[in-house]
Amino acid sequence: MSNKNCESAEKKRDTGRSIPRREALKIAGAFLVTGLTPTPIRGQAKRAKKIIVGGAGIAGLSCAYELMKRGHDVTVLEASARTGGHVHTVREGLADGLYVDAGAEHFTQPGYDRYWQYVQEFNLTALPYPRRNRMLRVLQGKMYSEDDLQTANVLKVLGFNQREVQFLASHAWWELPSLYFDPLLDKFTDEYKPFDAGLNHLDHVTMDQWLKEQDASAAAIRYISGTGVSALHVLWHAAILKVRKVPLFPPKVFRLRGGNQGMTDAFAARLGDRVRLERPITKIEHSPTAVRIHYRESGEEKTMEAEYLVCGMSAVMLRQIPVTPAWPESKRYAMATVPYYTASRPFFQSRSRFWEKDGISPNIEFNERSLSHIWRMGDDVETQRGLLVSTADALTTGEAALKTFRRYYPGKSEDIELALVHDWSKDPWVMACETLNYRPGDLTRLWPALVEPHGRIHFAGAYADNLNWGMEAATRSANRVAERIDSES
Ligand SMILES: Cc1cc2nc3c(=O)[nH]c(=O)nc-3n(C[C@H](O)[C@H](O)[C@H](O)COP(=O)(O)OP(=O)(O)OC[C@H]3O[C@@H](n4cnc5c(N)ncnc54)[C@H](O)[C@@H]3O)c2cc1C
Repeated sequence: MSNKNCESAEKKRDTGRSIPRREALKIAGAFLVTGLTPTPIRGQAKRAKKIIVGGAGIAGLSCAYELMKRGHDVTVLEASARTGGHVHTVREGLADGLYVDAGAEHFTQPGYDRYWQYVQEFNLTALPYPRRNRMLRVLQGKMYSEDDLQTANVLKVLGFNQREVQFLASHAWWELPSLYFDPLLDKFTDEYKPFDAGLNHLDHVTMDQWLKEQDASAAAIRYISGTGVSALHVLWHAAILKVRKVPLFPPKVFRLRGGNQGMTDAFAARLGDRVRLERPITKIEHSPTAVRIHYRESGEEKTMEAEYLVCGMSAVMLRQIPVTPAWPESKRYAMATVPYYTASRPFFQSRSRFWEKDGISPNIEFNERSLSHIWRMGDDVETQRGLLVSTADALTTGEAALKTFRRYYPGKSEDIELALVHDWSKDPWVMACETLNYRPGDLTRLWPALVEPHGRIHFAGAYADNLNWGMEAATRSANRVAERIDSES
């Protein structure tokens, strides 16, 4: 469907529901003349509100879309020259119509409930994505198959204890954390209430320490736990996945035909000229009833006023924006502290799908800084060529990633003709990729302070939900914010 068609379909769908845009602007204008102390408009059951959304990533776009559908007057200010943020499909430099999802690359089922609704609503095609089939894993410098990692001798050599060896004999490798986590997960009865499980002391214990107390082997601790992270945070996330019936490492995943950017393009097309590119927000002023945003446009400082601001940029970007009056201490701490990683996406184009000739799975975990894991894409593109896509630390070059690949790949890889990389750390607006687990003690301070609205300022984004990663957290938080703003009188 072309953008134009999308827009007119949208208008039809909204007929009878929205307040016309002309009227919406009039209502907004009526209070704006009084600056930051608007006169409340009484006696109207539902009226259009003027809302600025900062950031056109999937969170900002879906929030703006939901607000637009409810008849509100929305403007999205995006710092960069494109929409999508960390949802970004790259075609440049690739032959035969091949493409790579440089950021968000898969979604699951179950899980991603809100996201799947949009897949249907926008008539997008979800493709099964065999990126986790027949996984190979490099552990302690050697490559193992899924079968190897269920074999007692192999597991013993790797240092797993008897209990773990027995468990893995009948479970997939990625299920190992369940051996320790499962007895505690049903204590979390409400997925938004981590502190009702009677396990609050575990926010002050690292996952490594807690696993040690459970007599986990050093090998299990190495593969289950991130270093120095809150045990409660990790267990809470596992409990949320269990509530949503999502495996810890879903083996079956999906992507959108033509690239996951199809989703953010669909939102942007429907929002039309409500989205304004190359307008970075530089300062936020707010009162209990209104906001004034400073932003840059073609080198000039401008301001815009509204009843609400939805912050759709990452906490790393948000913490750099001056706010008057300043955030309360709990919010300031939460935003300043939430940890993020940055990463790069190396990808290799090859003259053939050489791994098929070699009979070797291309879905490999290396756990090296220059190549964390790799998998194939491009099955839906009509070409003889192959495409391998990977994740690595920031500042990894294509050559460095390829060197690591060749060090471990047991077959022939001469057919690789191109090694490219998309490095998120070099993009000033989206260098912070996703949040990490919190440090001990921080869940108590960050939840729910990080996600709670402050006056007329709301927070949508992958970081702003209970399971704080990925496109589903972004759309869930966006919907929560849109519903809240819509319901306020
Ligand atoms: C390598 C990688 C792999 C990933 N894999 C997956 C995956 O498989 N599945 C999954 O679901 N998720 C995945 N993710 C995560 C997913 O991409 C993100 O969680 C999600 O896209 C975040 O969306 P967002 O809208 O919250 O934030 P963002 O995408 O960060 O969007 C924020 C927007 O705000 C803009 N902005 C920043 N500062 C300002 C400012 N001052 N003024 C105005 N605008 C501003 C930015 O330019 C950006 O467009 C991955 C991410 C990366 C990087």
